[in-house]
Amino acid sequence: MIMEYYDLAIVGAGPVGLFATKFANLHGLKTITFEALADCGGQINRLFPNKKIKDIPGYNSIIGHQLVDKLKEGINSKIITNYKVQEIIQKDGKIIIDNNYQVKTLLITSGMGAFTPKKLPLPIDSSCEKHIHYFVKNADHFQDKNVAIFGGGDSALDWAMQMADKCKIVIIHRRDQFRGMESTLKFLHQHNNVRFLTPYLPQKIIWQNNQLNILLKKMGTKERQEIKCDEAVIAFGFKSDNLLLKKWGLNLETGHVKVNSQMQSNIENIYAAGDACIYDGRVPMMALGFGEAQIAIMSIMNHLFPEKKLTIHLSSH
Ligand SMILES: Cc1cc2nc3c(=O)[nH]c(=O)nc-3n(C[C@H](O)[C@H](O)[C@H](O)COP(=O)(O)OP(=O)(O)OC[C@H]3O[C@@H](n4cnc5c(N)ncnc54)[C@H](O)[C@@H]3O)c2cc1C
Repeated sequence: MIMEYYDLAIVGAGPVGLFATKFANLHGLKTITFEALADCGGQINRLFPNKKIKDIPGYNSIIGHQLVDKLKEGINSKIITNYKVQEIIQKDGKIIIDNNYQVKTLLITSGMGAFTPKKLPLPIDSSCEKHIHYFVKNADHFQDKNVAIFGGGDSALDWAMQMADKCKIVIIHRRDQFRGMESTLKFLHQHNNVRFLTPYLPQKIIWQNNQLNILLKKMGTKERQEIKCDEAVIAFGFKSDNLLLKKWGLNLETGHVKVNSQMQSNIENIYAAGDACIYDGRVPMMALGFGEAQIAIMSIMNHLFPEKKLTIHLSSH
């Protein structure tokens, strides 16, 4: 393959990578973007394509997959999907990617990396298996069923929100406290189809009389209780794969790239933004990631063209 040359390569086309690509285009950077999956959109596409997202500036609310479409609008540089960047080599101040692409700078927007759900840590036989879900892509699948949702974070609560009008739900969590938006919790607590069971841990799960029979243990006690449901959704979070970032020589903290206020990593021409990066006080929210992408692109412009007086606000034509 003939080597291709770019000012900037962006690794990951989740929401932040997509916005970074558009912003790099606006600044005239010759850019290439790589996405490991078959489609762009990152966590939105994989985990909550049908969620009504309410904290994107400019929208009262927007459905996940519509936001991805909006973010793709107007991008005029190359995005290669089904391409997981594997190797980064520094050579004469340039970066060689997988021996195919030579770029001057790299922006890592790889989010949680290649993510796999944390599995239910119990023996599960094949008859149970098809009733246990680790993603909710389409809430209609659960219409009129009894569903147990395990977990106490964003995914558990968001999925419960999507399903609440369609089925009866019990949300089971090992703590009394949940990690989610107050408004979501309030909605769920007031919904007739939703009940909470805390602090309980699942101990055993079997398929009997056409239902999942789940034995629960109350935390810190000997109390046991059995619940029956048609389907179970496991939202214990995701394991991210940060091995590549480590291999590329980046300083990491809890698997995320440590960045300074310019979104620059410990390697001069490598930057990070979105959920891939970390600094004091960061929270995994998209609006924040969009701002970080802007800081990163402006830093890259300064790095590549130190003599240029940068236009911060782009003109309307
Ligand atoms: C259930 C749930 C609900 C949420 N709700 C909200 C909400 O309402 N509002 C909000 O602001 N945030 C919300 N979030 C958080 C939000 O989804 C993340 O902050 C956001 O997706 C981060 O975007 P990103 O582009 O940085 O990373 P990601 O979305 O993780 O995208 C990273 C992309 O990089 C790709 N990639 C990884 N490694 C490579 C590689 N080596 N080569 C090529 N590609 C690679 C991945 O395949 C992925 O597509 C929610 C999260 C969850 C789990």
